[in-house]
Amino acid sequence: MKVLVAVKRVVDYNVKVRPLSDGSSVDLNNVKMSINPFCEIAVEEAVRLKEQGVATEVVAVSVGPQQAQEQIRTSLALGADRGILVNTDAALEPLAIAKCLKALCDKESPDLVILGKQAIDGDNNQTGQMLAALAGYPQGTFASEVNIADGSVKVTREVDGGLQTVDLKLPVVVTTDLRLNEPRYASLPNIMKAKKKPLDTVTTDELGVDIAPRTQLLKVEPPAERAAGIIVEDVAQLMDKLRNEAKVI
Ligand code: AMP
Repeated sequence: MKVLVAVKRVVDYNVKVRPLSDGSSVDLNNVKMSINPFCEIAVEEAVRLKEQGVATEVVAVSVGPQQAQEQIRTSLALGADRGILVNTDAALEPLAIAKCLKALCDKESPDLVILGKQAIDGDNNQTGQMLAALAGYPQGTFASEVNIADGSVKVTREVDGGLQTVDLKLPVVVTTDLRLNEPRYASLPNIMKAKKKPLDTVTTDELGVDIAPRTQLLKVEPPAERAAGIIVEDVAQLMDKLRNEAKVI
């Protein structure tokens, strides 16, 4: 069983992002970049399936600039077998990413495609769903458990009010929720070994996909700053401020 895992290069979740001074985008200069956390969970799940003897090959795919090779190499160090970079410097929308992944599905014929439920930079939560629609695969989104047997996948999904389990026939698209697993750290020997694993590059032109944007980013601005708080002298002053300034009691 072949597993394709989609990994996105994003600003590391510990970084406090800032807009560029002209508000045209987020400032990515000298900012630490990492694998999107939900994609790390996707890689971990794929690698566990390989370790269990369910998957035979795990292919990590990223769509982005040359530097996205770093996130593919990290996926290889975590246990993926080979990588594919769809190289583009354009800022792509989820539909364009889904089209690139669909083109790779046509080439690679995976049985399972695992993606994160969302990328923490754009918070779109769209790519997996769009890929499933384009490829005509069933989808199990927000997965907190994945069980594969006899050509089908049971995906337990975190929905409002509880857990829902769906049974899907391979090939399928699965998107990962936070509680699916706890990703491992890459060991130094595995980081070294990952350097020798195959990593192919293709362009969006070679895949023949239309990546023209359908939306236009108007501006990026920081949230409004909160006014500083004050320390009150005593309870009487607190009550007075709540009653007469905040007018909440
Ligand atoms: P999004 O729909 O943008 O919230 O992203 C959901 C998931 O789609 C991510 O967690 C990735 O698994 C995948 N994805 C999105 N953008 C990319 C990209 N540029 N390269 C590879 N995978 C991506």
